Amino acid sequence: MSRAVEAHIDLVAVEHNLQILRQRAPQSKVLAVIKANGYGHGMAGIAGALAEVDAFGVACVSEAKQLRRKGVCVPILLLAGCFSYSELQESAQLGLDVVVHQLEQLEALECVKLKQPLNVWLKLDTGMHRLGVSPEQFEDTYKRLIACESVSNINLMTHFARADEVDCPETQQQIDCFDEVTSGVDVPCSLANSAALLKFPQSQRDWVRPGIMLYGVVPFEGEAGAAYGLMPVMTLTSQLMAIRDCKHGETIGYGGAWHCPEDMRIGVVSIGYGDGYPRHAAVGTPVLVNGRRVRLIGRVSMDSIFVDLSANPDAKLGDEAVLWGRGLPVEEVAACSGTIPYELLCKVTARVKFIYR
Ligand SMILES: *Cc1c(COP(=O)(O)O)cnc(C)c1O
Repeated sequence: MSRAVEAHIDLVAVEHNLQILRQRAPQSKVLAVIKANGYGHGMAGIAGALAEVDAFGVACVSEAKQLRRKGVCVPILLLAGCFSYSELQESAQLGLDVVVHQLEQLEALECVKLKQPLNVWLKLDTGMHRLGVSPEQFEDTYKRLIACESVSNINLMTHFARADEVDCPETQQQIDCFDEVTSGVDVPCSLANSAALLKFPQSQRDWVRPGIMLYGVVPFEGEAGAAYGLMPVMTLTSQLMAIRDCKHGETIGYGGAWHCPEDMRIGVVSIGYGDGYPRHAAVGTPVLVNGRRVRLIGRVSMDSIFVDLSANPDAKLGDEAVLWGRGLPVEEVAACSGTIPYELLCKVTARVKFIYR
C-alpha cells in the first residue's frame, strides 16, 4: 500500500454537462470558462473534452498561451483583459479576445500599434462594482472603441453579483440596467454565468459564460448538480491508512479536539489540507468509506483525517474513501467547511495524482 490520493477526472461527464447546458440555453453560443487550471481539474484535459464549444474564457495570458500551444483555435477571451502593453502585443500575436473594463485599457488600445486588431468585449458594470465601465462612461467608451484602429469586433458583457441567490431582485435589476444602457447598440452580448444561465434564462442572450456547471457543480445553497442532471467531473479519493479502537474519554488528534463519547472504532484516511482537503471541515462532514457515509471527527491534519467507523465496523485497511465527487456532492462538503465548491476544486494540490477518463 502506498499513499494513494487521486483526483479522478471524468471527461465523459464534462461532455454530458455541456449537452445539459446546451439544452438549457439552446439559442446561445457557449464560452466555456476554464480559468484557474480548469477550476482545478486540469485545463488541457477539460479543454480537450470541450472541443465543441464556441470559445474559452481564461484569467491570464499564460493560460491562453497554454491553450494555443495545445492547438486550440477557437476564440479565447481574457476575462480581465490586458494588464500592460506587452500583454496587448502578446494577445495580438496569439489572436486573443480581450475584455475592456476600464478607461486605462481603452487608452492603451488607442496608443498601441498592433500586428492585428483585437476583438474586444466591453464590460459594463451593472451593479457588481468589481470590473466594468460605469453606465455613464459606456457610450463614450463604446464610440472610442469603434474608432480605434487596434479594435476589430466589439461584444458587450456584464457580470452578476448575486445570481446564485433565491428571491434576490438584484439580478433582474442588473439585466434591466444592461438593457437600458446598451439599447440601440446592436452587437453580440453576454451576461450569464452558470447561476444565471440556470435561474434567469432571460439573461442567456448571444453568449453564455458557464464555468462551475461544466464541472457538474451548482453554486446554489443546499443544492447539488444532480438536481439539474449534471454529473460531477472530479472525484477525490484516498484510502484508510489506519484503524484504531479508542476508549470512551480518549481524545483524538491535534488539540485533543475530539473526545470519544464512548468506545469507538476510528479510521485514519490519508488525505489532509496538504492535498487540498479543507482544514476547516466541521465535525460531521460526510466521507464515503466503501460507498457508505461516515462522519469526519477531530481536526484535519496536513496528511490525514479521522472518521468515525462505528457504523462501518467491517472497514479494513486500504479500503477506498471518497472525499467528494461521485456519490458525495462537493457542494455538501463545501457547505460543511464554510466555503464554496469553487474553492475546494481549485485548491487540490500538486501532490494529488490526476487520472483522466
Ligand atoms: C469565472 C467567471 C464566469 C464563470 O462563472 P461560474 O459561476 O463558474 O459559471 C463567468 N464570467 C466571468 C466574467 C467570470 O469571471
